[in-house]
Amino acid sequence: MAEPSSTGNRTPNPEAAQSAFRSALDVIRGVEPRVADAIANELADQREMLKLIASENYASPATLLAMGNWFSDKYAEGTAGRRFYAGCRNVDTVETLAAEHARTVFGADHAYVQPHSGIDANLVAFWAVLSQKVESPALARAGARQVNDLSEQDWAELRREFGNQRMLGMSLDAGGHLTHGFRPNISGKMFDQRSYGTDPATGLLDYDAVRAAAREFRPLIIVAGYSAYPRLVNFRLMREIADEVGATLMVDMAHFAGLVAGKVLTGDFDPVPHANIVTTTTHKSLRGPRGGMVLCDEALAEHVDRGCPMVLGGPLPHVMAAKAVALAEAARPEFRDYAQAIVDNSRALAEGLLTRGAKLVTGGTDNHLVLIDVSGYGLTGRQAEAALLDAGIVTNRNSVPQDPNGAWYTSGIRIGTPALTTRGLGTAEMDEIAGLIDTVLSGATAAPAKNGGTSKAHHVLDAAVAEQVAKRAADLLAGFPLYPGIDLS
Ligand SMILES: *Cc1c(COP(=O)(O)O)cnc(C)c1O
Repeated sequence: MAEPSSTGNRTPNPEAAQSAFRSALDVIRGVEPRVADAIANELADQREMLKLIASENYASPATLLAMGNWFSDKYAEGTAGRRFYAGCRNVDTVETLAAEHARTVFGADHAYVQPHSGIDANLVAFWAVLSQKVESPALARAGARQVNDLSEQDWAELRREFGNQRMLGMSLDAGGHLTHGFRPNISGKMFDQRSYGTDPATGLLDYDAVRAAAREFRPLIIVAGYSAYPRLVNFRLMREIADEVGATLMVDMAHFAGLVAGKVLTGDFDPVPHANIVTTTTHKSLRGPRGGMVLCDEALAEHVDRGCPMVLGGPLPHVMAAKAVALAEAARPEFRDYAQAIVDNSRALAEGLLTRGAKLVTGGTDNHLVLIDVSGYGLTGRQAEAALLDAGIVTNRNSVPQDPNGAWYTSGIRIGTPALTTRGLGTAEMDEIAGLIDTVLSGATAAPAKNGGTSKAHHVLDAAVAEQVAKRAADLLAGFPLYPGIDLS
């Protein structure tokens, strides 16, 4: 196993980081001590938790510190060198650096680093495509340069056209994301959406079914990408399908951007050379600050750069500074070792669970996450999540394909390795953690319901089992300190 990366949880100069965080807390304590305490307590909590939440990570001290400063005070609408506010030269520097690093790390033609989150990045991407494929032709037909030049009638017609567009995305219970056209999210209210799923027999993405749906539905946009699919997606094939029906291929790599940056996902499995537009968060496997980003081809660049004011308010310059730091870290060779270790650990976790008889969606994993079908243990996802938490193991429940328990109780537990890999845990520890998970899930039972039968919400777990597992988890973590050298007590 590779040494933990010096750009992750470990910093080459812990004394400097410790004094920076300590001084910051002292300053905050002088104004509102309860906030300073909450910040310090959060570090203590994160140190104690066995964090298997697939979408979380630990950003480096340099990344965290880049966010806490006066860049937060600056308005900088527009893009670098083309602002609607004066005095933006330092913001220009960090935005340009973040975009440069992003283009280098991902081999993209264009990078837009302003989105405040993953959902914002997706909204920017949707409206960039609508701008390119719906608004631009309408302007050209009317001989108008911009929307303000359209007559009331042409504007009404264009607004109707915006509302009549179609999107094809991965279904939620196959691992897709709410922002891919589902009704509770604005994307589902904007687009007429249809979804593609996975093969019920294998749990794998069924490209023939995607192709058939695309041919019949003729969407404007095909969205690929997921937050709970444990296998690889062939983006070359997805692009072929999109091209065949004249759709734009958008890939949301929010979860697996770190595996792309770290060159674990290459060739057909690297979305960047195949998609027209790629969106991501920066805080999941990419291990940067909380935020979003859009990468795209030259044809979409001018449309994407209109993200503010189209969708976004003023950018967050302090977060763009932190994105530049985190992307500089992701460009370093150690990040490749980190990305490979994430997948090695995920495979070891899956193996360890399978050996102990657990049922996994698709029977294993090729990426950073594993989806356990906990119906095999006689539990709902909600009961399993709560039982694991009793034992100090933090996960989240998740639907499995064709989930009989719906999106609230679910039948799955999603676990992922980016965070624990940052702490330095390796494959031997993953096998042991698989054992701890199996012990808890085997020991837990559904609680009796008030009016007979069993509850979907509540579980019973022997306190001694919970305590014993929690103790072993704490001992394991003690060997892999989080932010070693930083002591806030
Ligand atoms: C996490 C996630 C998002 C949303 O990111 P936020 O930063 O929470 O808005 C969008 N798409 C996918 C696929 C995700 O996994």
